[in-house]
Amino acid sequence: MLDVANLIKIRRDLHQIPELGFQEHKTQAYLLNFIQALPQTHLSVKKWKTGILVKVKGTNSSMLVAYRADIDGLPIEEETGLEFQSKHEGYMHACGHDLHMTIALATLEAMAKQPPENDVLFVFQPAEEGPGGALPMMQSEEFKEWWPDLIFALHIAPELPVGTISSKPGLLFANTSELFIDFKGKGGHAAYPHLTKDMVVAASGFVGELQTIVSRRVDPLESAVITIGKITGGTVQNVIAERARLEGTIRTLSPDLIPIIKQEIDSLKRGFEEMYDCSISIDFGANYYQVFNQSDLVDQFKHIVESSELEWKEAPAAMTGEDFGYMVRDIPGFMFWLGVDSPYGLHHSKLTAKEEAIPIAAKLVEKTLREMKSLNA
Ligand SMILES: [Zn+2]
Ligand SMILES: [Zn+2]
Repeated sequence: MLDVANLIKIRRDLHQIPELGFQEHKTQAYLLNFIQALPQTHLSVKKWKTGILVKVKGTNSSMLVAYRADIDGLPIEEETGLEFQSKHEGYMHACGHDLHMTIALATLEAMAKQPPENDVLFVFQPAEEGPGGALPMMQSEEFKEWWPDLIFALHIAPELPVGTISSKPGLLFANTSELFIDFKGKGGHAAYPHLTKDMVVAASGFVGELQTIVSRRVDPLESAVITIGKITGGTVQNVIAERARLEGTIRTLSPDLIPIIKQEIDSLKRGFEEMYDCSISIDFGANYYQVFNQSDLVDQFKHIVESSELEWKEAPAAMTGEDFGYMVRDIPGFMFWLGVDSPYGLHHSKLTAKEEAIPIAAKLVEKTLREMKSLNA
């Protein structure tokens, strides 16, 4: 395993070059450069778009075990003030994917030098934050050729201390859909509202009505969230707005509820078009499928964590989304949280991570890849 100073250097190098989904060119080059410098005897490498697949040939393989690391950053201006903060203005690794990649490289290095028994696949996946890289990657010939028998991934958890690992059997992350709503009506002078169709009023009313979907249309024993995080509209204070836009997200614990909520939003759209004499267009953007962990694998993993003298914490289900959900929909697998102890949460411009978590995670991922048994073993 690489020494700690090397691990920290890799993490800091990657932290400085955050790139958006499917634009991770520098990141891909950095990863490839590292991978090509490793002993190649047991390795095979394939590129897929801005992602990479690396297979390590096992010594006596009965299955292919995969570890997935997402590689993209976010359109957030970094405010950590760290000496190694992002060199890409307006972009930041604010979701810890720089750590996810570093942990994968460290583990890969160890395995290139001392191959595992089973074949192992490292999946460097682009575009987790959007538009979603997991599903198209799985549909590629490159991935299909190396289809894993089992897959796992981790995500940093700012709220957990270093040395704590957390997961749960069953549902870990929610089903999500983006939501973009555009309103277009007839603008005009602020003093003549009767001659116009005011899109600020229509959009405001829509935000209020959206709240009644969760409170009045969804079974109270089910869980759902509709959040509008951004409203834009109009041009100036004394002109009635011709256009307005709402941007938000839908989250549910059941995959069946997402289409029901979408239908309700469509029916609101028709009502509002009638009421406000305007046209409304809705774009549901990217959908992410729930992350559902296989119980038997989580049990095995929990034993590995406890035998590594790390702290195990049973995780609650969360309304966050992850496109890794598509991978564990079709491949037995699980995801877990890695404590990195930051006062700021994921996607915050001041998110930091304690780097002591990196060697801990690399050892744990390596041990898991080497020791994990398939479900029917
Ligand atoms: Zn994220
Ligand atoms: Zn993330």
